[in-house]
Amino acid sequence: MADHPIEISLDPKNWDEFRALAHRALDDAITYVSSVSSRPVWLPVPPDARDALAQPSPIEEMPLGEVYEEFKHYIVPYATGNIHPRFFGWVHGAGQAGGMVAEMLAASMNANCGGRDHGAIYVERQVIDWCRGWFGFPSEASGLLVSGTSMANLIALGVARNTLPEVRRKGIETAGLTAYASTEVHESVTRAMEILGLGSESVRKVPVDRWFAMDTAALSGAIAADRAAGRQPLCVVGSAGTVNTGAIDPLDEIASICQDENLWFHVDGAFGALAVLSPLLKPRLRGIERADSIALDFHKWAQVQYDVGCVLVRRGELHRATYSQRPAYLTHLQRGLAAGSDWPCEFGPELSRGFRALKVWFALKEHGTRNIGRIVEQNCGQARYLAERVALEVELELLAPVTLNIVCFRYRPSRLAMKERDIDGINEEITILLQERGIAAPSTTRVENRLAIRVNITNHRTKLSDMDILLAGVLEIGRSLTGGVAPVRA
Ligand SMILES: *Cc1c(COP(=O)(O)O)cnc(C)c1O
Repeated sequence: MADHPIEISLDPKNWDEFRALAHRALDDAITYVSSVSSRPVWLPVPPDARDALAQPSPIEEMPLGEVYEEFKHYIVPYATGNIHPRFFGWVHGAGQAGGMVAEMLAASMNANCGGRDHGAIYVERQVIDWCRGWFGFPSEASGLLVSGTSMANLIALGVARNTLPEVRRKGIETAGLTAYASTEVHESVTRAMEILGLGSESVRKVPVDRWFAMDTAALSGAIAADRAAGRQPLCVVGSAGTVNTGAIDPLDEIASICQDENLWFHVDGAFGALAVLSPLLKPRLRGIERADSIALDFHKWAQVQYDVGCVLVRRGELHRATYSQRPAYLTHLQRGLAAGSDWPCEFGPELSRGFRALKVWFALKEHGTRNIGRIVEQNCGQARYLAERVALEVELELLAPVTLNIVCFRYRPSRLAMKERDIDGINEEITILLQERGIAAPSTTRVENRLAIRVNITNHRTKLSDMDILLAGVLEIGRSLTGGVAPVRA
């Protein structure tokens, strides 16, 4: 026998030691999640942690236990905070305990879900099929799990763009393509249009009504004006739950306009689309079943661990025609591992992809869509409660109607004559102090040019009592900043 050189592998030198450490890490993680409510929502990253994470590339090995100690000291204490019941910023999901198991198991398989014929691909197809059912999409509709709604919007609008003849081969030659979305649309839609070569100015921002939902008369007017000017309207993006206020565009009316005008109808339902899982809320999304494409996130209201979203396209053949490319090294064979058609890599720009579907499959099976729908309803109820309490406090002002789960309000003592700019500054400071003191983590936005403390609730751990704690914090900080005192109640 030939003399083989010494070969190394990266497997543990001692599997028993590895097993003990892995069990300890899992135990610590379970303690960490189950005790989250007793900790501050957020802690700033201190200098020693920043230093520890600005080191040169490691050349020599380090025992896994030591790597884990660094994680414990420098990383896990300084998490975003979104698993905490009083994380209210932006639109963050909380994940759930079962997701830890699913993620770990997916890591053990380390499946590449770009394609080929293996179990993970069937799990993804299963999840897509469930989604199809929720939105009443036909069986020929296609879907893909992606990193999130930003990517889902991009993929869907890419399909819309490729409905134009020859664009896939020759690129965009037609100038003057236009898209329509409300002034409240998420920035990822504009970004998608930029990436697709259509330019941000091609997105017409249609005004909204007092519910912050798209004004469809203005939409029709904008389409007519563009046609009259010789431009070529391509698609309308309806929002099912806007990021600022949670408003829902009139999807059914938009669907009819798109049908009459022969335009692609895309729905950005990042979080709001999941309201279909609540029998109470589902009617609010009427018209979503008529969309040509839908983008949604599992990592927000479905409480699946980051990151995973989904794009659905009604006419699967258009979806495939946009992204499918089969060079020789990706040829399908009749049998074996390279069998099966419609590989996920044919429905988006990524080839190698992880096993995102497993954590979705786990979460939906463990909790069932009924419970996910209940969480959605529960969060909306908490938002209504918060809005009612804001309305009762003379020092607080509601800045937008509450459609779903987002409340925009501000601290504004009426006894003080203050400039708008100063009121903005106080509310910004209140938000920062709530975060820095670890009380709660709302974010800010601007509503009709006033700075709002924005509370988004997409968290299964949040309780009504968390609204009370938040409000007490806002009032106390607001009073201390303005030298105010609590009003005397009759
Ligand atoms: C969060 C969000 C997005 C972007 O989704 P990601 O998952 O962060 O990429 C798009 N639209 C709306 C309405 C959102 O809330």
